[in-house]
Amino acid sequence: GTATAPGTAAAPGTAAPDAPAAGLVEVRGVHKSYGTLEVLAGIDLVVRPGEVTVILGPSGSGKSTLLRVINHLEKVDRGFVAVDGDLIGYSRWGDTLRELKEKDILVQRTRIGFVFQGFNLFPHLTALENVVEAPVSAQGRPRAEVEAEARELLARVGLADKVDARPRQLSGGQQQRVAIARALATRPRVLLFDEPTSALDPELVGEVLDVIKDLAHGGTTMLVVTHEIGFAREVADTVVFMDAGRVVEQGPPTQVLDAPRHDRTKAFLDKVL
Ligand code: ADP
Ligand code: MG
Repeated sequence: GTATAPGTAAAPGTAAPDAPAAGLVEVRGVHKSYGTLEVLAGIDLVVRPGEVTVILGPSGSGKSTLLRVINHLEKVDRGFVAVDGDLIGYSRWGDTLRELKEKDILVQRTRIGFVFQGFNLFPHLTALENVVEAPVSAQGRPRAEVEAEARELLARVGLADKVDARPRQLSGGQQQRVAIARALATRPRVLLFDEPTSALDPELVGEVLDVIKDLAHGGTTMLVVTHEIGFAREVADTVVFMDAGRVVEQGPPTQVLDAPRHDRTKAFLDKVL
């Protein structure tokens, strides 16, 4: 059902979420500033179950901040973010509707897999231990069961023979594939990728994109920030173009990539294509 707190009014300019969530991820009217710099200037975004959304946009347009807001690494000033709203309810910082407690945020984070540009593996742990860590420590699942699943996940990303390797013994592409297996290990409802291939040598980009494509074709819900236009064309259900903290346009790849309506989208695509 819907999570509507009693006796609270909607803040001006933000619609109350009085209908069941249509999306696995719903971002509504989100504003976020750092000092006087408005980084997110009213973002609306819906990611439906099983869909792949690719976010494009120039550096500094707010893409990483948006992912961090969705993962509750940043609080919003206005608006709300719901992830799998039926399970967790929604957070709506900046007004009195409902504050998620720290405990709820931790639970919600286990329902979101996050893959960063810089891999962020624990350097002293093996690939297997990196994958096992969160399900055991944050979700309290039995280690034996988690280990068996972690081996399957590492095999799925093509690293069955690297379970005992430490990050420094792996290439960047292999490290990022461990990071993807780790993100999957908590059985998240949605995966967030923040430029997952931009720290990689060019010859290693393909092996990581192939893993992400496999997940996409397998029905994993994901939100991917990337400059890889070919990838977007192949797997995105929706392409979102952001600039200066706003969604400038969004739609299927054939529309946004091949027939962009806005000059800023055209100018950006001219640069990256
Ligand atoms: P993108 O990922 O699209 O390159 P970001 O979301 O990283 O954009 O950043 C958007 C803007 O917000 C940039 O101008 C950046 O410098 C600024 N910014 C990001 N994080 C912070 C922060 N913690 N404090 C101050 N400014 C920030
Ligand atoms: Mg970024």
